[in-house]
Amino acid sequence: MNFCSSCGAQVTLLIPEGDNRFRFVCVDCGTVHYQNPNIVTGCIPEWDDRILLCKRAIEPRYGTWTLPAGFLENGESSMFGAAREAKEEANAEMRDMKLFSIFSIPHINQMYTFFRGTLRNGIASPGEESLEVKLVSEDQVPWGELSFPVVMETLKLYFQDRKAGHYDTHYGEIIREDPKTIRIEHY
Ligand SMILES: [Zn+2]
Repeated sequence: MNFCSSCGAQVTLLIPEGDNRFRFVCVDCGTVHYQNPNIVTGCIPEWDDRILLCKRAIEPRYGTWTLPAGFLENGESSMFGAAREAKEEANAEMRDMKLFSIFSIPHINQMYTFFRGTLRNGIASPGEESLEVKLVSEDQVPWGELSFPVVMETLKLYFQDRKAGHYDTHYGEIIREDPKTIRIEHY
């Protein structure tokens, strides 16, 4: 950040009085510009024994498969945002949504929430951000072509729960160990 979004003056990186972290502070108008993680919200649309996946038509990870998900908007609830993403990316309508997983990913300043729910009438088609959408059973999941570790972890948990005959709510953390390695922790 270079300039204050309140008054346009140049900002300075410093630890404000009473704080313990560096913040961008405008010394002209006194505004402290806090920066916090972004929330990504998505869903697992279910139809019979299959779930809906979308092939990304956007970067990052263009052409890989993912669950419908995207950044939560201001003024929007996590669950509503997840349903909106399903509508935008797959023209899919969600019903009976239940929280399924939360993943914290500190190294990219993101937190994910996933809700599972019924895909109304099993109907979906590609939205603007998808090249293709498809309903897949567990053995049809393209495990090697999934977009992000968080999608893979959520799907693994989902199919584990389904086999066990009941769904839990899960919390996990995806931690960067070094530039090439991540570690997944489940709590
Ligand atoms: Zn300012």
